[in-house]
Amino acid sequence: MITRRNLLARGAASAALLGAPKLLLAEMSLGGATISTLSDGTLTLPGDFVTANLPEEAVDIIKSYGLSTDQYTPECNLALYRDGTNTVLFDVGSGPDFMPSAGELLDSLDAQGLGAGDITHVVFTHAHPDHIWGLIDDFDELVFPDASYHIGRGEWDYWWNPETVNTIGEARTTFAVGAKRRFEFLEDKINFFDAGDEVLPGIAAVATHGHTPGHMAFEIRNGSESAMVVGDAIGNPHVAFHHPEWESGSDQDGAMGVKSRKMLMNRMAAEQMAIIGFHLPGGGMGRVEAMDGAYRFVPSS
Ligand SMILES: [Zn+2]
Repeated sequence: MITRRNLLARGAASAALLGAPKLLLAEMSLGGATISTLSDGTLTLPGDFVTANLPEEAVDIIKSYGLSTDQYTPECNLALYRDGTNTVLFDVGSGPDFMPSAGELLDSLDAQGLGAGDITHVVFTHAHPDHIWGLIDDFDELVFPDASYHIGRGEWDYWWNPETVNTIGEARTTFAVGAKRRFEFLEDKINFFDAGDEVLPGIAAVATHGHTPGHMAFEIRNGSESAMVVGDAIGNPHVAFHHPEWESGSDQDGAMGVKSRKMLMNRMAAEQMAIIGFHLPGGGMGRVEAMDGAYRFVPSS
């Protein structure tokens, strides 16, 4: 298995200095198919982004991982599924307009010898900026012109609704404006699915609402082997696994987010499914272990 660690050992210093190609973060095979994660960069968020409104213990958990509490810089790792016929990208990243530290997906694809025209399908977990703003480029053209696009019907309806910008709350009005604007590029070509639907062969949608009203995870299955693309249903690798019952400030509906998170963790631990999380560390791929009434994330690298 190619891991982030051994790639880093080989190339990190020169990559940082020379602007060398972005790393393939992690990869696993599932039957005859391959699932990889590709970096879109990182987000740059305030240090209390995760811990605000949580008990003091949350800060201790963050510190116990040796992480800074001044700034929070989660990875953005897109999942890419290739089965020989379909090349499926889950979400499209931040694009050029969200944050200077994100929007590197095309470089990461290029480093794998893939161009935008190679993507046959785009499947969305949800429509927050770091997942959908990369739909269009600086010239307002679709970045993946040849792909077919798929989204949960509930997620589309929420962001398409002109009232959402008025009801979402001040902190997220740019999210609403940005999502609606991207959706307008897809209006004539979007494909909808519902929870439980097989979106593409071997890929089923799993209702994991809460982070957004229509957030979906995806169960990828081949016989007894399976992996779950969880998107942002599990957003933070530290606090969320220690205390899945704590409501996250990044979830639009905290209580529903807790329900989805517990369901996913329970399933992935019990069924030994691989987990692929957009903001999880080390490339975002690993497994979930039950531990002391909670869980822990074990990166594959
Ligand atoms: Zn996100």
